[in-house]
Amino acid sequence: MADYQPVPDQIRGDILVVGGGISGMTTAIEAAEVGKHSILVEIKPSIGGRVISTNQYFPKLCPPTCGIEINLKRIRLNPFIRIITLAEVLQVSGSPGNYEVQIKLNPRYVNEKCTACGDCATVCEIERDNDLNYGLDKTKAIYLPHLMAYPMRYVIDPQFAKDERMKKCVEACQYKAIELDMQPRTITAKVGAIVWATGWKPYDATKIDNLGFGKYKNIITNVMMERISSQTGPTGGKIVRPSDGKEVKTIGFVQCAGSRDENHLPYCSAVCCLASMKQATYVRTQYPEADIHLFYIDVRSPGRLEDFYVKMQADQKFYFHRGKVAKITETANGNLMLEAENTLTGEVSKVEVDMAVLAVGMVPNTVDAKPPLETTLDPYGFIAGDSDKGVIGAGTAMLPCDVAVSVQQATGAALKAINIAGRR
Ligand SMILES: Cc1cc2nc3c(=O)[nH]c(=O)nc-3n(C[C@H](O)[C@H](O)[C@H](O)COP(=O)(O)OP(=O)(O)OC[C@H]3O[C@@H](n4cnc5c(N)ncnc54)[C@H](O)[C@@H]3O)c2cc1C
Repeated sequence: MADYQPVPDQIRGDILVVGGGISGMTTAIEAAEVGKHSILVEIKPSIGGRVISTNQYFPKLCPPTCGIEINLKRIRLNPFIRIITLAEVLQVSGSPGNYEVQIKLNPRYVNEKCTACGDCATVCEIERDNDLNYGLDKTKAIYLPHLMAYPMRYVIDPQFAKDERMKKCVEACQYKAIELDMQPRTITAKVGAIVWATGWKPYDATKIDNLGFGKYKNIITNVMMERISSQTGPTGGKIVRPSDGKEVKTIGFVQCAGSRDENHLPYCSAVCCLASMKQATYVRTQYPEADIHLFYIDVRSPGRLEDFYVKMQADQKFYFHRGKVAKITETANGNLMLEAENTLTGEVSKVEVDMAVLAVGMVPNTVDAKPPLETTLDPYGFIAGDSDKGVIGAGTAMLPCDVAVSVQQATGAALKAINIAGRR
């Protein structure tokens, strides 16, 4: 049951899953496939989470479309899953086995008649920052969230819904799918268990003064690098530097940008070393002769992921520098000077690059929006709770991790939720 049908004011289910990234999708699907009614609530206009914005997955380097498409197929085939997008949990009452949840549905301003033809966007005169591409380009005010959007339906940025210019889009829609007067509403869901899978956001790189993000144009973050490398990204997949579109002859990856640092994120985000090495393969594919520099405290590639690290070490023009980058400055031609002290030899190395990528860590979204029921969070905001008392965490809402671990985690959460929902 997709979100193509209007949602009634009162709904029932066995399990409520909050967050429609790979973790939340996995929990909802696993529970539904054993016959439990699962309600998946996603705050954005489409499910898929941050995986959608990656160019390729490590370690296999396949596009995220593979994994997401398999899960979307399982969702489409399963009558026990109800997806509700643009929705947020306001309030929860009750106890394990018997919860009542107030869910706010925000207006999409586009109804289920939308065929995603795009005629509305063609005539739309208003532009907005593209959040999928971390503000590196624009979309129209009426837009399709991404090419794999589920539901495959346009949405209007709420700040422009009342703008007179949007009426042109209404006129252009031959299916009468645009309703500019849609209002928010609140529905009630009765469920037996609640799984919280609200995921992560990148650490705000502007807080790391010494690394120059926001000051120098050719310093980007790792999440932006995923988009710049993607065919659906702002440059159509061509890796060029932001200031002047110049091809990249030298690039620097700055590991632990803010991570493992008491002033920023004291913990390791577990995926950044692998993510940077993966991004180095994007560079190598486009620029066989490029010099790639990676500055690290120690490379973390647990288990079989070590194979990927070993493979990367065989690249003769991939230079690993032991030492945390202390300072980045801009040179006259827009290049960047990276300075780091080698922690083994004590020598200070200076490397000039065309472009630098800051490997920022993962911050749980629960830091900003704590679940509205009894939940224990660890000192960094990740869910650490005793699932018997309240919310069950899944995926990166519990710990920073890759997709494989998220999926294992989320599958375990489904089992716990089935157990708790059975106490009704
Ligand atoms: C630069 C980088 C590259 C990476 N590359 C890889 C890789 O190649 N391979 C790999 O295995 N892993 C990779 N990862 C890790 C991967 O992104 C995560 O493992 C994955 O996103 C975890 O999925 P999730 O569902 O837990 O969280 P998310 O992807 O963050 O999904 C959470 C969902 O919850 C929604 N949400 C948030 N708050 C609310 C709310 N209040 N109510 C309702 N919904 C809400 C969000 O909109 C989102 O859809 C990378 C990470 C980084 C930083």
